[in-house]
Amino acid sequence: MRLSRSFLPTLKENPAEAQIVSHRLMLRAGLIRQTASGIYAWLPAGLRVLRNISQIVREEQDRINAQEVLMPTLQSADLWRRSGRYDAYGPEMLRIQDRHKRELLYGPTNEEMITDLFGQSVKSYKDMPQTLYHIQWKFRDEVRPRFGVMRGREFLMKDAYSFDVDYTSAVASYRRMMLAYLRTFQRLGVQAVPMRADTGPIGGDLSHEFLILAPTGESGVFYDAALEEQDWLDTPVDTESNDALEAFFNRVTAPYAATDEMHDTQAWEAVPEDRRREGRGVEVGHIFYFGTKYTQAMGVTVSGPDGAPLHPEMGSYGIGVSRLAGAIIEASHDENGIIWPDSVAPFRAAILNLKMGDAQCDALCEELYAAAPEYFLYDDRPERAGVKFADADLMGHPWQIVVGPRGAKEGIVELKRRATGERSEVSVQDALTRVL
Ligand code: ATP
Ligand code: MG
Ligand code: MG
Ligand code: MG
Repeated sequence: MRLSRSFLPTLKENPAEAQIVSHRLMLRAGLIRQTASGIYAWLPAGLRVLRNISQIVREEQDRINAQEVLMPTLQSADLWRRSGRYDAYGPEMLRIQDRHKRELLYGPTNEEMITDLFGQSVKSYKDMPQTLYHIQWKFRDEVRPRFGVMRGREFLMKDAYSFDVDYTSAVASYRRMMLAYLRTFQRLGVQAVPMRADTGPIGGDLSHEFLILAPTGESGVFYDAALEEQDWLDTPVDTESNDALEAFFNRVTAPYAATDEMHDTQAWEAVPEDRRREGRGVEVGHIFYFGTKYTQAMGVTVSGPDGAPLHPEMGSYGIGVSRLAGAIIEASHDENGIIWPDSVAPFRAAILNLKMGDAQCDALCEELYAAAPEYFLYDDRPERAGVKFADADLMGHPWQIVVGPRGAKEGIVELKRRATGERSEVSVQDALTRVL
Protein backbone atom coordinates (compact mmCIF):
# COMPACT_ATOMS: atom_id res chain seq x y z
CA MET A 1 0.00 0.00 0.00
CA ARG A 2 1.24 3.48 -0.82
CA LEU A 3 0.82 5.71 2.20
CA SER A 4 0.14 8.79 0.05
CA ARG A 5 -2.99 7.14 -1.32
CA SER A 6 -4.20 5.18 1.66
CA PHE A 7 -6.70 5.75 4.41
CA LEU A 8 -4.46 5.49 7.47
CA PRO A 9 -5.41 8.51 9.55
CA THR A 10 -2.84 8.76 12.34
CA LEU A 11 -3.22 11.24 15.20
CA LYS A 12 -0.41 13.22 16.81
CA GLU A 13 -2.23 14.00 20.02
CA ASN A 14 -3.47 11.52 22.56
CA PRO A 15 -7.26 11.25 22.30
CA ALA A 16 -8.77 12.41 25.59
CA GLU A 17 -11.37 9.64 25.78
CA ALA A 18 -8.83 6.80 25.81
CA GLN A 19 -7.80 5.67 29.29
CA ILE A 20 -5.47 2.83 28.44
CA VAL A 21 -2.47 2.54 26.17
CA SER A 22 -3.91 0.09 23.63
CA HIS A 23 -7.00 2.23 23.10
CA ARG A 24 -4.86 5.35 22.67
CA LEU A 25 -2.54 3.62 20.23
CA MET A 26 -5.35 2.02 18.22
CA LEU A 27 -6.89 5.46 17.72
CA ARG A 28 -3.58 7.21 17.11
CA ALA A 29 -2.31 4.58 14.65
CA GLY A 30 -5.55 4.85 12.67
CA LEU A 31 -6.76 1.29 13.31
CA ILE A 32 -10.25 2.02 14.61
CA ARG A 33 -12.77 4.79 15.13
CA GLN A 34 -15.69 4.74 17.54
CA THR A 35 -19.11 5.12 15.89
CA ALA A 36 -21.29 4.73 19.01
CA SER A 37 -20.60 3.77 22.62
CA GLY A 38 -18.70 0.44 22.54
CA ILE A 39 -19.09 0.12 18.75
CA TYR A 40 -16.17 0.57 16.39
CA ALA A 41 -15.37 0.82 12.70
CA TRP A 42 -12.18 -0.94 11.64
CA LEU A 43 -10.07 1.10 9.23
CA PRO A 44 -7.77 -0.55 6.64
CA ALA A 45 -4.79 -1.24 8.94
CA GLY A 46 -7.05 -2.37 11.79
CA LEU A 47 -8.97 -4.67 9.49
CA ARG A 48 -5.73 -6.28 8.38
CA VAL A 49 -4.90 -7.00 12.02
CA LEU A 50 -8.36 -8.44 12.63
CA ARG A 51 -8.01 -10.66 9.55
CA ASN A 52 -4.55 -11.86 10.54
CA ILE A 53 -5.76 -12.80 14.01
CA SER A 54 -8.86 -14.51 12.57
CA GLN A 55 -6.76 -16.48 10.09
CA ILE A 56 -4.46 -17.91 12.77
CA VAL A 57 -7.47 -18.77 14.92
CA ARG A 58 -9.09 -20.44 11.90
CA GLU A 59 -6.01 -22.49 10.97
CA GLU A 60 -5.67 -23.85 14.48
CA GLN A 61 -9.40 -24.71 14.67
CA ASP A 62 -9.20 -26.50 11.33
CA ARG A 63 -6.12 -28.35 12.51
CA ILE A 64 -8.15 -30.15 15.19
CA ASN A 65 -10.92 -30.84 12.66
CA ALA A 66 -13.32 -28.22 13.89
CA GLN A 67 -15.44 -27.12 10.93
CA GLU A 68 -16.19 -23.54 10.10
CA VAL A 69 -19.77 -22.37 9.64
CA LEU A 70 -21.28 -18.92 9.71
CA MET A 71 -24.34 -18.35 11.81
CA PRO A 72 -26.29 -15.08 11.64
CA THR A 73 -26.00 -12.27 14.18
CA LEU A 74 -29.79 -12.06 14.60
CA GLN A 75 -31.56 -14.87 16.39
CA SER A 76 -35.17 -15.54 17.22
CA ALA A 77 -36.29 -15.11 20.80
CA ASP A 78 -38.18 -18.41 20.55
CA LEU A 79 -34.93 -20.30 20.18
CA TRP A 80 -33.76 -18.85 23.48
CA ARG A 81 -37.10 -19.56 25.14
CA ARG A 82 -36.47 -23.25 24.45
CA SER A 83 -33.34 -23.22 26.60
CA GLY A 84 -34.90 -20.94 29.21
CA ARG A 85 -32.21 -18.30 28.70
CA TYR A 86 -34.33 -15.62 27.02
CA ASP A 87 -35.50 -14.21 30.31
CA ALA A 88 -32.50 -15.36 32.33
CA TYR A 89 -29.86 -13.58 30.21
CA GLY A 90 -30.78 -10.13 31.48
CA PRO A 91 -29.98 -6.63 30.24
CA GLU A 92 -26.76 -7.58 28.41
CA MET A 93 -28.97 -8.98 25.64
CA LEU A 94 -30.04 -6.57 22.92
CA ARG A 95 -33.66 -7.37 22.15
CA ILE A 96 -35.18 -6.30 18.85
CA GLN A 97 -38.66 -6.35 17.34
CA ASP A 98 -39.31 -6.66 13.61
CA ARG A 99 -42.20 -5.04 11.70
CA HIS A 100 -44.44 -8.02 12.43
CA LYS A 101 -43.73 -7.60 16.13
CA ARG A 102 -41.73 -10.81 16.19
CA GLU A 103 -39.04 -10.83 18.83
CA LEU A 104 -35.44 -11.14 17.80
CA LEU A 105 -32.12 -10.58 19.51
CA TYR A 106 -28.58 -9.76 18.45
CA GLY A 107 -26.66 -12.88 19.52
CA PRO A 108 -24.38 -12.52 22.55
CA THR A 109 -23.32 -16.18 22.03
CA ASN A 110 -24.62 -19.17 20.03
CA GLU A 111 -25.23 -22.25 22.20
CA GLU A 112 -28.96 -22.33 21.42
CA MET A 113 -28.58 -21.85 17.69
CA ILE A 114 -25.85 -24.43 17.25
CA THR A 115 -27.68 -26.98 19.41
CA ASP A 116 -30.76 -26.51 17.24
CA LEU A 117 -28.75 -26.78 13.99
CA PHE A 118 -27.02 -29.89 15.21
CA GLY A 119 -30.27 -31.46 16.41
CA GLN A 120 -31.96 -30.90 13.06
CA SER A 121 -29.28 -32.76 11.14
CA VAL A 122 -27.51 -35.32 13.29
CA LYS A 123 -29.61 -38.29 14.27
CA SER A 124 -27.07 -40.98 15.16
CA TYR A 125 -24.00 -41.42 17.35
CA LYS A 126 -22.26 -42.64 14.17
CA ASP A 127 -22.10 -39.06 12.91
CA MET A 128 -20.29 -37.87 16.01
CA PRO A 129 -18.16 -36.33 17.42
CA GLN A 130 -18.56 -32.94 15.73
CA THR A 131 -17.03 -29.59 16.52
CA LEU A 132 -18.35 -26.53 14.70
CA TYR A 133 -17.16 -22.95 14.95
CA HIS A 134 -17.69 -19.55 13.46
CA ILE A 135 -16.07 -16.14 13.63
CA GLN A 136 -18.90 -13.69 13.95
CA TRP A 137 -19.87 -10.40 15.56
CA LYS A 138 -21.58 -10.57 18.91
CA PHE A 139 -23.46 -7.94 20.84
CA ARG A 140 -23.51 -7.59 24.61
CA ASP A 141 -24.95 -4.45 26.07
CA GLU A 142 -22.14 -4.09 28.61
CA VAL A 143 -22.96 -1.75 31.53
CA ARG A 144 -19.60 -0.05 31.12
CA PRO A 145 -18.14 -0.42 27.64
CA ARG A 146 -14.57 0.79 27.97
CA PHE A 147 -10.96 0.42 26.98
CA GLY A 148 -11.82 0.57 23.27
CA VAL A 149 -12.21 -2.82 21.63
CA MET A 150 -11.22 -4.60 24.83
CA ARG A 151 -14.71 -4.23 26.25
CA GLY A 152 -16.88 -3.26 23.34
CA ARG A 153 -20.58 -3.85 22.97
CA GLU A 154 -20.26 -5.18 19.44
CA PHE A 155 -17.20 -7.43 19.20
CA LEU A 156 -15.80 -10.23 17.07
CA MET A 157 -15.62 -13.65 18.67
CA LYS A 158 -14.61 -17.08 17.51
CA ASP A 159 -16.96 -19.50 19.20
CA ALA A 160 -16.78 -23.25 18.80
CA TYR A 161 -19.13 -25.93 20.05
CA SER A 162 -18.40 -29.65 20.47
CA PHE A 163 -20.88 -32.52 20.45
CA ASP A 164 -19.88 -35.91 21.83
CA VAL A 165 -21.69 -39.13 22.70
CA ASP A 166 -20.21 -39.54 26.17
CA TYR A 167 -18.14 -37.87 28.86
CA THR A 168 -14.83 -39.50 27.85
CA SER A 169 -15.17 -38.29 24.30
CA ALA A 170 -16.28 -34.82 25.47
CA VAL A 171 -13.16 -34.55 27.65
CA ALA A 172 -11.01 -35.39 24.62
CA SER A 173 -12.73 -32.64 22.62
CA TYR A 174 -12.09 -30.19 25.46
CA ARG A 175 -8.42 -31.10 25.67
CA ARG A 176 -7.94 -30.86 21.90
CA MET A 177 -9.40 -27.37 22.03
CA MET A 178 -7.09 -26.44 24.89
CA LEU A 179 -4.13 -27.44 22.73
CA ALA A 180 -5.51 -25.47 19.78
CA TYR A 181 -5.79 -22.40 22.04
CA LEU A 182 -2.25 -22.69 23.36
CA ARG A 183 -0.95 -22.98 19.81
CA THR A 184 -3.13 -20.09 18.63
CA PHE A 185 -1.91 -17.68 21.30
CA GLN A 186 1.69 -18.73 20.78
CA ARG A 187 1.38 -18.03 17.06
CA LEU A 188 -0.16 -14.65 17.86
CA GLY A 189 3.04 -13.83 19.73
CA VAL A 190 1.46 -13.51 23.17
CA GLN A 191 1.74 -15.35 26.43
CA ALA A 192 -1.82 -16.36 27.36
CA VAL A 193 -1.88 -18.48 30.48
CA PRO A 194 -4.70 -21.02 30.96
CA MET A 195 -6.28 -20.66 34.39
CA ARG A 196 -8.82 -22.84 36.07
CA ALA A 197 -12.20 -21.08 35.99
CA ASP A 198 -15.52 -21.45 37.71
CA THR A 199 -17.72 -24.25 36.37
CA GLY A 200 -20.86 -23.23 38.25
CA PRO A 201 -23.38 -26.01 38.82
CA ILE A 202 -21.65 -28.27 36.24
CA GLY A 203 -18.69 -28.89 38.56
CA GLY A 204 -15.46 -30.64 37.60
CA ASP A 205 -12.27 -29.09 36.30
CA LEU A 206 -13.22 -28.45 32.68
CA SER A 207 -13.37 -24.68 32.48
CA HIS A 208 -10.32 -22.57 31.73
CA GLU A 209 -9.83 -18.94 30.93
CA PHE A 210 -6.79 -17.78 28.99
CA LEU A 211 -5.29 -14.55 30.27
CA ILE A 212 -2.70 -12.19 28.87
CA LEU A 213 -0.68 -10.36 31.47
CA ALA A 214 -1.24 -6.58 31.35
CA PRO A 215 -1.36 -3.99 34.12
CA THR A 216 -4.79 -2.79 32.95
CA GLY A 217 -6.31 -6.29 33.05
CA GLU A 218 -9.57 -6.66 34.93
CA SER A 219 -8.60 -9.86 36.78
CA GLY A 220 -5.86 -10.47 39.30
CA VAL A 221 -3.72 -13.44 38.21
CA PHE A 222 -1.35 -15.78 40.02
CA TYR A 223 0.68 -18.42 38.20
CA ASP A 224 3.77 -20.57 38.26
CA ALA A 225 6.51 -19.36 35.86
CA ALA A 226 6.87 -22.98 34.68
CA LEU A 227 3.90 -22.19 32.42
CA GLU A 228 5.97 -19.62 30.53
CA GLU A 229 8.41 -22.25 29.37
CA GLN A 230 5.92 -24.51 27.63
CA ASP A 231 6.16 -24.56 23.85
CA TRP A 232 3.24 -26.17 22.03
CA LEU A 233 4.25 -25.40 18.47
CA ASP A 234 7.22 -27.70 18.67
CA THR A 235 5.68 -30.33 20.92
CA PRO A 236 3.66 -32.81 18.89
CA VAL A 237 0.56 -34.13 20.66
CA ASP A 238 -1.36 -37.00 19.09
CA THR A 239 -4.85 -35.53 19.20
CA GLU A 240 -6.42 -38.86 18.24
CA SER A 241 -5.06 -40.59 21.35
CA ASN A 242 -6.90 -40.09 24.64
CA ASP A 243 -3.76 -41.02 26.58
CA ALA A 244 -1.67 -38.43 24.77
CA LEU A 245 -4.38 -35.82 25.36
CA GLU A 246 -4.53 -36.69 29.03
CA ALA A 247 -0.76 -36.41 29.43
CA PHE A 248 -0.88 -33.06 27.64
CA PHE A 249 -3.71 -31.80 29.86
CA ASN A 250 -1.92 -32.89 33.02
CA ARG A 251 1.22 -31.08 31.94
CA VAL A 252 -0.66 -27.85 31.30
CA THR A 253 -2.71 -27.95 34.47
CA ALA A 254 -0.08 -29.21 36.93
CA PRO A 255 1.59 -25.81 37.57
CA TYR A 256 -0.45 -23.43 39.71
CA ALA A 257 -2.50 -20.82 37.80
CA ALA A 258 -5.61 -19.00 38.98
CA THR A 259 -7.46 -15.71 38.69
CA ASP A 260 -8.40 -13.89 41.89
CA GLU A 261 -11.86 -15.51 41.76
CA MET A 262 -10.38 -19.00 42.06
CA HIS A 263 -7.22 -18.16 44.01
CA ASP A 264 -6.17 -20.60 46.72
CA THR A 265 -3.55 -19.05 49.00
CA GLN A 266 -2.45 -22.37 50.45
CA ALA A 267 -1.67 -23.91 47.05
CA TRP A 268 0.02 -20.64 46.05
CA GLU A 269 2.43 -20.81 48.96
CA ALA A 270 3.53 -24.25 47.80
CA VAL A 271 4.91 -22.68 44.59
CA PRO A 272 8.63 -21.84 44.99
CA GLU A 273 8.93 -18.11 45.59
CA ASP A 274 11.17 -17.37 42.60
CA ARG A 275 8.58 -18.92 40.28
CA ARG A 276 5.56 -16.99 41.56
CA ARG A 277 4.17 -14.56 38.99
CA GLU A 278 1.49 -12.20 40.15
CA GLY A 279 -0.23 -9.37 38.28
CA ARG A 280 -3.27 -8.38 36.26
CA GLY A 281 -4.64 -10.20 33.24
CA VAL A 282 -7.01 -9.76 30.30
CA GLU A 283 -9.31 -12.67 29.44
CA VAL A 284 -8.79 -13.46 25.75
CA GLY A 285 -10.27 -16.95 25.65
CA HIS A 286 -12.52 -19.24 27.60
CA ILE A 287 -13.23 -22.95 27.18
CA PHE A 288 -16.04 -24.67 29.01
CA TYR A 289 -17.54 -28.15 29.23
CA PHE A 290 -21.20 -28.10 30.21
CA GLY A 291 -22.43 -31.61 29.42
CA THR A 292 -26.05 -32.04 28.42
CA LYS A 293 -27.27 -28.67 29.72
CA TYR A 294 -28.56 -27.41 26.35
CA THR A 295 -29.31 -30.70 24.60
CA GLN A 296 -31.56 -31.65 27.54
CA ALA A 297 -33.25 -28.27 27.83
CA MET A 298 -33.87 -28.12 24.09
CA GLY A 299 -34.82 -31.77 23.70
CA VAL A 300 -32.01 -32.75 21.32
CA THR A 301 -31.17 -36.47 21.12
CA VAL A 302 -29.33 -38.86 18.82
CA SER A 303 -29.68 -42.62 18.74
CA GLY A 304 -26.90 -44.23 20.75
CA PRO A 305 -24.92 -47.46 20.11
CA ASP A 306 -27.62 -49.53 21.87
CA GLY A 307 -30.40 -47.88 19.87
CA ALA A 308 -31.66 -45.83 22.80
CA PRO A 309 -31.73 -42.02 22.42
CA LEU A 310 -29.09 -40.01 24.26
CA HIS A 311 -28.45 -36.31 24.86
CA PRO A 312 -25.10 -35.26 23.33
CA GLU A 313 -22.48 -33.81 25.67
CA MET A 314 -21.36 -30.30 24.75
CA GLY A 315 -18.62 -27.79 25.34
CA SER A 316 -18.19 -24.23 24.12
CA TYR A 317 -14.98 -22.42 23.37
CA GLY A 318 -14.58 -18.69 22.79
CA ILE A 319 -11.74 -16.44 21.67
CA GLY A 320 -12.11 -12.67 21.73
CA VAL A 321 -10.75 -11.87 18.28
CA SER A 322 -11.32 -8.10 18.41
CA ARG A 323 -10.32 -7.91 22.10
CA LEU A 324 -7.05 -9.60 21.14
CA ALA A 325 -6.10 -6.70 18.87
CA GLY A 326 -6.10 -4.48 21.96
CA ALA A 327 -4.67 -7.08 24.33
CA ILE A 328 -1.71 -7.75 22.04
CA ILE A 329 -0.90 -4.03 22.06
CA GLU A 330 -1.23 -3.92 25.87
CA ALA A 331 1.41 -6.64 25.98
CA SER A 332 3.61 -5.27 23.19
CA HIS A 333 4.32 -1.54 22.88
CA ASP A 334 6.77 1.13 24.02
CA GLU A 335 6.67 4.91 24.48
CA ASN A 336 6.78 5.42 20.70
CA GLY A 337 3.95 3.14 19.73
CA ILE A 338 2.85 -0.37 18.88
CA ILE A 339 5.28 -3.27 18.45
CA TRP A 340 3.33 -5.80 16.37
CA PRO A 341 4.34 -9.45 16.51
CA ASP A 342 5.21 -10.51 12.94
CA SER A 343 2.19 -12.77 12.65
CA VAL A 344 -0.45 -10.08 13.25
CA ALA A 345 1.19 -6.92 11.88
CA PRO A 346 -0.90 -5.14 9.23
CA PHE A 347 2.26 -4.76 7.11
CA ARG A 348 5.52 -6.66 7.39
CA ALA A 349 7.58 -3.56 6.78
CA ALA A 350 7.36 0.14 6.08
CA ILE A 351 9.56 1.49 3.31
CA LEU A 352 10.63 4.98 4.32
CA ASN A 353 11.73 7.15 1.44
CA LEU A 354 13.72 9.93 3.13
CA LYS A 355 14.07 12.03 -0.02
CA MET A 356 11.08 11.88 -2.31
CA GLY A 357 12.00 13.19 -5.75
CA ASP A 358 15.60 11.98 -5.54
CA ALA A 359 15.92 9.71 -8.58
CA GLN A 360 17.97 7.04 -6.81
CA CYS A 361 15.85 6.98 -3.65
CA ASP A 362 12.63 6.79 -5.66
CA ALA A 363 13.93 4.02 -7.91
CA LEU A 364 15.19 1.93 -5.02
CA CYS A 365 11.95 2.31 -3.08
CA GLU A 366 9.91 1.34 -6.13
CA GLU A 367 12.09 -1.73 -6.60
CA LEU A 368 11.57 -2.79 -2.98
CA TYR A 369 7.86 -2.07 -3.09
CA ALA A 370 7.30 -3.98 -6.32
CA ALA A 371 8.77 -7.12 -4.70
CA ALA A 372 5.74 -7.49 -2.40
CA PRO A 373 3.22 -4.62 -2.56
CA GLU A 374 0.73 -6.57 -0.42
CA TYR A 375 3.16 -6.78 2.51
CA PHE A 376 4.69 -3.30 2.38
CA LEU A 377 3.52 0.10 3.40
CA TYR A 378 5.48 2.51 1.23
CA ASP A 379 5.78 5.92 2.90
CA ASP A 380 5.93 8.03 -0.25
CA ARG A 381 4.56 11.20 1.34
CA PRO A 382 6.46 14.46 0.88
CA GLU A 383 7.09 14.57 4.64
CA ARG A 384 10.20 15.15 6.75
CA ALA A 385 12.19 12.10 7.80
CA GLY A 386 11.25 12.69 11.45
CA VAL A 387 7.55 12.45 10.67
CA LYS A 388 8.05 9.20 8.75
CA PHE A 389 10.10 7.64 11.54
CA ALA A 390 7.55 8.65 14.16
CA ASP A 391 4.60 7.28 12.18
CA ALA A 392 6.38 4.00 11.43
CA ASP A 393 7.20 3.56 15.13
CA LEU A 394 3.62 4.46 16.07
CA MET A 395 2.10 1.97 13.61
CA GLY A 396 4.47 -0.71 14.85
CA HIS A 397 5.58 -2.43 11.64
CA PRO A 398 8.01 -5.24 12.59
CA TRP A 399 10.58 -3.83 10.14
CA GLN A 400 11.45 -0.43 8.70
CA ILE A 401 13.44 -0.21 5.50
CA VAL A 402 14.98 3.24 5.46
CA VAL A 403 16.10 4.58 2.08
CA GLY A 404 18.25 7.74 2.10
CA PRO A 405 20.25 9.45 -0.66
CA ARG A 406 23.69 8.46 0.64
CA GLY A 407 23.07 4.71 0.78
CA ALA A 408 20.82 4.70 -2.27
CA LYS A 409 23.79 5.63 -4.46
CA GLU A 410 25.38 2.30 -3.58
CA GLY A 411 22.17 0.29 -3.40
CA ILE A 412 22.32 0.17 0.41
CA VAL A 413 19.36 0.60 2.76
CA GLU A 414 19.03 0.67 6.52
CA LEU A 415 16.99 -2.08 8.09
CA LYS A 416 15.49 -1.44 11.52
CA ARG A 417 13.83 -4.05 13.69
CA ARG A 418 11.02 -2.35 15.60
CA ALA A 419 11.07 -4.68 18.62
CA THR A 420 14.77 -4.29 19.43
CA GLY A 421 15.68 -1.03 17.70
CA GLU A 422 18.56 -2.91 16.08
CA ARG A 423 19.75 -1.33 12.82
CA SER A 424 21.93 -2.66 10.03
CA GLU A 425 23.03 -1.49 6.60
CA VAL A 426 22.18 -4.07 3.99
CA SER A 427 21.72 -4.49 0.26
CA VAL A 428 18.24 -4.36 -1.24
CA GLN A 429 18.31 -8.10 -1.77
CA ASP A 430 19.30 -8.82 1.84
CA ALA A 431 16.59 -6.49 3.09
CA LEU A 432 13.99 -8.37 1.06
CA THR A 433 15.24 -11.76 2.20
CA ARG A 434 15.10 -10.80 5.88
CA VAL A 435 11.72 -9.12 5.78
CA LEU A 436 9.73 -11.44 3.51
P1 ATP B 1 -15.55 -10.82 30.42
O1 ATP B 1 -15.28 -11.58 31.71
O2 ATP B 1 -14.39 -10.02 29.97
O3 ATP B 1 -16.84 -10.04 30.49
P2 ATP B 1 -16.85 -13.10 29.42
O4 ATP B 1 -16.36 -14.10 30.41
O5 ATP B 1 -18.19 -12.51 29.65
O6 ATP B 1 -15.76 -11.92 29.27
P3 ATP B 1 -17.11 -15.16 27.41
O7 ATP B 1 -18.59 -15.33 27.46
O8 ATP B 1 -16.25 -16.15 28.09
O9 ATP B 1 -16.77 -13.67 27.92
O10 ATP B 1 -16.73 -14.95 25.86
C1 ATP B 1 -15.56 -15.46 25.23
C2 ATP B 1 -14.54 -14.38 24.93
O11 ATP B 1 -15.12 -13.26 24.26
C3 ATP B 1 -13.91 -13.77 26.17
O12 ATP B 1 -12.88 -14.60 26.66
C4 ATP B 1 -13.38 -12.45 25.64
O13 ATP B 1 -12.11 -12.63 25.04
C5 ATP B 1 -14.39 -12.08 24.56
N1 ATP B 1 -15.30 -11.03 25.05
C6 ATP B 1 -16.30 -11.15 25.95
N2 ATP B 1 -16.92 -9.98 26.16
C7 ATP B 1 -16.31 -9.08 25.36
C8 ATP B 1 -16.49 -7.69 25.12
N3 ATP B 1 -17.46 -7.00 25.73
N4 ATP B 1 -15.68 -7.07 24.22
C9 ATP B 1 -14.70 -7.76 23.59
N5 ATP B 1 -14.49 -9.07 23.77
C10 ATP B 1 -15.27 -9.73 24.65
MG1 MG C 1 -18.82 -10.65 30.28
MG1 MG D 1 -15.13 -13.61 32.13
MG1 MG E 1 -15.50 -16.00 30.07
